[in-house]
Formats: sequence, structure tokens, C-alpha cells
Amino acid sequence: MEKTRWRDCGPDICPGTGCCGKFHGLEGFCIGGKWEDQGKLTNQDRVSELRASRAAVLGCVQREYYEPEIKDLKEWSALRKTSPLFPLEPHLGEDGLLRAEGRLEKVPLMTDSKYPVLLPRDHHVTELIVRETHENKARPSGREHTLAVMRQEFWVPKGRRLIDRVLKRCLVCRRVSWKESLQRQTNRPADRVCVVKASFTHTSVDCFGPFSAKQGRKWVKQWGCLFTCLNSKAIHLEILDGLDADSFLNAITCFLARRGVPERIRSDNGTNMIRANK
Ligand SMILES: [Zn+2]
Repeated sequence: MEKTRWRDCGPDICPGTGCCGKFHGLEGFCIGGKWEDQGKLTNQDRVSELRASRAAVLGCVQREYYEPEIKDLKEWSALRKTSPLFPLEPHLGEDGLLRAEGRLEKVPLMTDSKYPVLLPRDHHVTELIVRETHENKARPSGREHTLAVMRQEFWVPKGRRLIDRVLKRCLVCRRVSWKESLQRQTNRPADRVCVVKASFTHTSVDCFGPFSAKQGRKWVKQWGCLFTCLNSKAIHLEILDGLDADSFLNAITCFLARRGVPERIRSDNGTNMIRANK
């Protein structure tokens, strides 16, 4: 950005702003294009500059969307009835921004809360404002709280839809409102509830590993083979020298010699088991 002050840039400040971050980042850009210049600013300068920049950004957004309304208000001090903003009875504030007329004139509140700045729903800057409001002031609450906090400063016609869109992408809210999926489970198979037979009559088998093991002086890879009784959950462990069919056949031979021949063995159809079966 060559121009140092965005508020001097006129109506072309918003399109393609590169405002990929938050709204404050956008305002920060307006303070002065070169960060090294900022050391010369006093705190008072910064606040007034920030306010002016904020008004410049918002004014630019409004001019882009509400040009006819602003023109009407300047010329006639009233809106056409065909304008979508007509029900909100907007007026131009002292800072030149289009503000919604509420019913809170006699309430001792800040001007922003009494007359919130009107913003179009489909503008990128509005989305940044919603995102920032939600992340900094209204998280992890839902749509209505975000809307209420936002209305202390801004009025977005049909803003709930925009807030829904932002909340849908908020990871914190998604994590908080995540619901455990309740899956209806089917009946257990007969061989898992057959309690009258000996252990390992119905068995499941699976392999795990590899692990490093020492053989003589060298380290070798080894795998484990786990046989589980489907009724009692008793286990039988064997060691495999590899994930090939021969190693698995050795393991199952040891298992059969020790525990007897099962009626049924369940497995995950691993390649070594299928080859061993052949
Ligand atoms: Zn959220």
C-alpha cells in the first residue's frame, strides 16, 4: 500500500483491501501505512486517528451500498419509501455515518448504542466486524448474544443470517456445541454371549506392532499376535517374526497346541491371515 493514510484515499479504500484479518487490523492499516512512523504518534494521536480511520472505513462501506439513501438524506432529509432502509428511519450522524434511529433517545447511553451504525449484510468488512465481535466479546455464546453485543455499535439488516454463517465456521463454538452421536447398536452375535463353553471356543485374532527386540547382539523388529476369547475376554499372546503367512501359521500352531481347536476364529481379514488360511 503506497498511500500512508487510507482515509485520504477516498471511496476506493475498501475494495481489495487485503483485509484478510480482523476489523481492527483494517483500522490499524489506516493509522499509517508505515509501521516505523507510528513511534512518533502520541497516545492521543493514536486514539483520534483510530476513530477517524474507523469512520473512514465504515463510511466507505456505506457509500458503496447506501449511496442513494445518503444522497436522499443530504438533499431531502428523508428517505424514499421504496428504500429497504426506510423502516429503520436512518439519519446521518455528526461523523457523516448512516445511523439507525432507535427508540432510545432519552436513555443515557453512548451515541453508538443509541444510534447504531448501519452496515450491509453482504460486505466483507461487516463479516470481519461480526467475527471480531464474536471472538473477542461473545464467545462461545450463540447467535443472539453475538447479535446483542454487535447492536451496541452496529445494525446489520437481517444480520442473523450473517452471524449464523460466521458461527458455522467458528471452531470453538463447534467444539463446545458438539453432540455425541447416538448410534443404535445391534444385538451381540451368538458366539460372543455363549457362556457355557470353554474359554477360546470362540476366539478373535489380531496383530500389532512392530516392536524392537534384542536377539543376541542385534536389534530386530517383532510383532505381537493377540488371541482373545470372545466370551471371557481372556487373552493369549504370541510373538511374530514378521507379518508374513509363515509367521502367522507358527503363531496359530502354538496357540492351537496350548488352548485347543476353537469352533470359530474371527479376524480383520489381514493379508497374512488370508494367505495362512490357504
Ligand atoms: Zn464461536
